Amino acid sequence: KVRVRFAPSPTGGLHLGGVRTALFNYLYARKHQGDFILRVEDTDQTRFVAGAEEYINECLAWCGLTPDESPLKGGTFGPYRQSERKPSYRQFAEQLIEKGYAYYAFDTAAELEEQRKDQPNFRYSQENRLNLRNSLSLSKEETQELLLAGIPHTIRIKVPTDETVSFTDMIRGQVSFDTNLIDDKVLLKADGMPTYHLAVVVDDKAMEISHVFRGEEWLPSAPIHILLWEYLGWNEHMPKWAHLPLILKPDGNGKLSKRDGDRLGFPVYAMNWKDTQSDTMTKGFREMGFLPEAFVNMLGVLGWNDGTEKELFSLEELIEKFSVERISKAGAKFDFEKAKWFNHEWIKKTSNEALLPQIKDVLATHKVENVSDHYISEVLSTVKERLTFISDFWEQASFFFVQPDNYDLTAVKPKWSVEKMSFFQEVNVEFSKFDSWDASALETFFKGAIQASGMKMGELMMPFRIMLVGGKFGPDVFQIVSLLGKEEVIARVDKALI
Ligand code: GLU
Repeated sequence: KVRVRFAPSPTGGLHLGGVRTALFNYLYARKHQGDFILRVEDTDQTRFVAGAEEYINECLAWCGLTPDESPLKGGTFGPYRQSERKPSYRQFAEQLIEKGYAYYAFDTAAELEEQRKDQPNFRYSQENRLNLRNSLSLSKEETQELLLAGIPHTIRIKVPTDETVSFTDMIRGQVSFDTNLIDDKVLLKADGMPTYHLAVVVDDKAMEISHVFRGEEWLPSAPIHILLWEYLGWNEHMPKWAHLPLILKPDGNGKLSKRDGDRLGFPVYAMNWKDTQSDTMTKGFREMGFLPEAFVNMLGVLGWNDGTEKELFSLEELIEKFSVERISKAGAKFDFEKAKWFNHEWIKKTSNEALLPQIKDVLATHKVENVSDHYISEVLSTVKERLTFISDFWEQASFFFVQPDNYDLTAVKPKWSVEKMSFFQEVNVEFSKFDSWDASALETFFKGAIQASGMKMGELMMPFRIMLVGGKFGPDVFQIVSLLGKEEVIARVDKALI
């Protein structure tokens, strides 16, 4: 059975690369009727950040990526928070020691610091492990003594010499690593907590994970994990690996980092993230006005395509079309203008009814309330094509809800001439006689009146628009006229003529 996991460390807000990893796992699970598991990797207590786990839950919910098993939901393979699984890891680290694949290391942080001072390229590895304080360099008795005395120690993997670790990555094909270049990573820390490397392998086994989709930045860790799978005797249960292409800066120059957002003026977090320590706020796509459908769609095609030119996909369509073969090896450039285009397209695709709650929020922030849903929806239809964000609604459509206070007179030359004023006074009287307020009848009447006046179309059409909306913008004038309604149009013309 396909079982995949999204395994974030709760160290802050979710970067869009993290959400894409969650998405690709989710797509693969859904595509193959498998399970999508959320596992919180919180074994590094020094990096624990309050609120980060809640953020992850909220973010997955916003994107519609509902886990089948998670800390919140539970499941038969729980607990799903690694800190709660702490007692399960030590036995495996000790098993590795017994088999000669790992060792106790007694070096203190200060001692290792000393080493680094002397050799800037210091690595705890096969090159110098015998010069350090561990169960390989000490005698059995010495080691036993230290252990009995309760001297704090870590357990490190003993990486073999002159071997090649190879595996087949579903995206990259055959990948090989020279073990001489790999450090003896810590597996169990002095506080008894496993490190990421041990925890990830033990839990992927315990949770019967079948496929691992994770970012390319984890590729260098893969050989350590593969050695652990082998050393623990679990080879036939090892998941298949897929390392997703990096998400690159817009210019393609390196990986998009968490800090790039502020620097380049666009969000890199899924939702606003407030760092309580530094009291800084990092902007997120959600609060910026992205629809979750647009955000998910944009992430779905960052490093994947369906083999055609098609770019717009709902989550359902992504599940249907998703295939590992079409994930690219090369990094995917993030383009914020393109992200905005997705949002624009998704606003167009989404029904007025579904957008209404958010539109009402926008109106409420401008103190516009008690307007019928029907009217808001009609207005939305006229401006929908122009929205990149829901919040643009106000800029595009405020005049449908509040009368203009100022008029852009630059387009009206000479300003309101006596001649024009009397034209509008007369027209307004005629408006009041209309029984059915029909856009095309009004247009016929208005154009006829202009002709009868002997003035030119342009001389009166633009002033009319400005009287109604305050400026030179907006959709078709007669559409505006018909939506505003008879009383409002008459009132606005009157107001402008004062
Ligand atoms: N905890 C790791 C992270 O924060 C997970 C890496 C993996 O999927 O193995 O991304």
